Amino acid sequence: MTFEQLGLSADILRAVAEQGYSAPTPIQAQAIPVVLEGRDILAGAQTGTGKTAGFTLPLLHRLAETTRKGSRTVRALILTPTRELAAQVGESVATYGRHLDLRSAVIFGGVKINPQIQQLRRGVDILIATPGRLLDHVSQGTLDLSRVEILVLDEADRMLDMGFIHDIRKVLAQLPERRQNLLFSATFSGEIRALAERLLDAPVSIEVARRNTAAESVAQRVYRVDRGRKAELLAWLIGSRDWRQVLVFTRTKHGANRLAQYLDKAGPSATAIHGNKSQGARTRALAGFKKGDIRVLVATDIAARGLDIDQLPHVVNFELPNVAEDYVHRIGRTGRAGREGEAVSLVCVDEDRLLRDIEKVIGRRLPAEVLEGYEPDPSIRPEPIQNGRGQRAGGRRSEGARRGGRPGGKRSGSGARRARRCRWQYPLHRQQQPRSGDAGVG
Ligand code: AMP
Repeated sequence: MTFEQLGLSADILRAVAEQGYSAPTPIQAQAIPVVLEGRDILAGAQTGTGKTAGFTLPLLHRLAETTRKGSRTVRALILTPTRELAAQVGESVATYGRHLDLRSAVIFGGVKINPQIQQLRRGVDILIATPGRLLDHVSQGTLDLSRVEILVLDEADRMLDMGFIHDIRKVLAQLPERRQNLLFSATFSGEIRALAERLLDAPVSIEVARRNTAAESVAQRVYRVDRGRKAELLAWLIGSRDWRQVLVFTRTKHGANRLAQYLDKAGPSATAIHGNKSQGARTRALAGFKKGDIRVLVATDIAARGLDIDQLPHVVNFELPNVAEDYVHRIGRTGRAGREGEAVSLVCVDEDRLLRDIEKVIGRRLPAEVLEGYEPDPSIRPEPIQNGRGQRAGGRRSEGARRGGRPGGKRSGSGARRARRCRWQYPLHRQQQPRSGDAGVG
């Protein structure tokens, strides 16, 4: 299969060739002809499959085919859960559409609204946006969505996880009845299916990677280690194995900051990326990581969502995610485009249930190894896991939260004691070497 066979216009094929793509990926081969026909799609595809070009190329083709007279109004709306993903999709739209007379804009929160208003006023054909800021523009009357022809929901599962369902409903209410809808999601919960049912009209279902199946090219390893020695083990792994580009996941923003600081002091240059950081800081961190100036990027699930980093060789789950599906998203960052990747999970005694949940989702066992010098201490008992939002893993509210503790805020009483106890801890002065002898890979 070649791009030429898919029926895309010469200007788009030229842009694709300039990107150096020789053949469409499976999602592109399946989605492009269907979108060109004007049909709705429900696509199961993770980041790394080429899904962005899968919807962007035919969308550009359709818009370019039928130019509109008069002033430019938004004809295609692409909704994404995060600012990073919006920026990346925006880049793809600009790249693939560089030989077309179409204008695009990316709008998200956390930055000034006025330049966005100016840009919208000048006229935009394709708008890539996160739901919150989009609605700000709608309520200020600076955006007209009544002439949208194509709607794309990218990473719809993520949008729902992040609580955007009400915002999505409000956006839908602004759109004309007749339009084409493309829904992309890595996982399919009941909620996603319900949304698809409401939104899509006789959709064509496309699924590339099997549902909830981790990429085959990713070697998945589990190392058993005590919660208090994870940071030390990680610093040692990075150093001794000479890992160069490592994406590390923590459960909380606070944990991400502390781990990044620890690693940075211990040796490998590291920085944290999460929602509390300004857009500028996040962009700088990502650029530094891509260039190789920053060796380790420590991220929370939400912040990492949509980061487009090609062929990332190492992903580390410093803590297992509370939601098993997030594991699939996380390790989807590695082993891209047929390259080998490695996903390492550091698992302590508190995380047994989370590991079992993940194994259920991916449909196989992940054999656990113990590294010499990092053998878990059998006297350490499991402790409940906090996710930093006053919730225990599994979604049950913690004591502190039930007593009125604010999400992410200070806790009081026994909730506070529990939260303190179950944080992982490590002394900064600790040696990076294993306790005894050379560490083998187990
Ligand atoms: P995505 O899944 O959309 O995030 O894309 C993942 C990466 O694959 C991006 O960096 C794209 O530039 C790249 N890509 C997309 N389509 C192709 C293709 N047909 N051949 C090679 N690389 C591609």
